[in-house]
Amino acid sequence: MDMSECIFCNILAKTAPADLLYEDDEVIVIRDVHPIAPVHLLIIPRRHIASLNELQPEDAALAGHLLLTVPKVARQFIGENASYRTVINTGAASGQTVFHLHVHIIAGRPSVSNLFTRRLH
Ligand code: 5GP
Ligand code: ZN
Repeated sequence: MDMSECIFCNILAKTAPADLLYEDDEVIVIRDVHPIAPVHLLIIPRRHIASLNELQPEDAALAGHLLLTVPKVARQFIGENASYRTVINTGAASGQTVFHLHVHIIAGRPSVSNLFTRRLH
């Protein structure tokens, strides 16, 4: 795949706009452009990895950093002892639409019991 066609690579290269909330050497955090809840963030590794299926054993440090960024930004943008869902869609049939690995952080006022299948409002 030509990386210039990847929207997240373009956001990382600053050739596409985004609401950047956090960045470090390995990841950035932006707001999802189509939020499904009051807080909907995306943690995106700087390196283009298409999905979890392409993650390699040598990516262990990056994978750990990606996961450790979750509570860090959750504390900052949701609150202390934040309550939220994390989602990583893998493959088109699962709902993955951007084939550059990313973690969704989704939070809001839970109004239904099944937080996995229903939206948070
Ligand atoms: P996926 O469906 O691949 O798990 O998630 C991709 C997410 O990226 C979607 O929630 C979609 O709204 C978001 N998204 C797609 N294009 C853009 C964009 O240009 N900017 C931002 N901030 N989010 C995007
Ligand atoms: Zn990319």
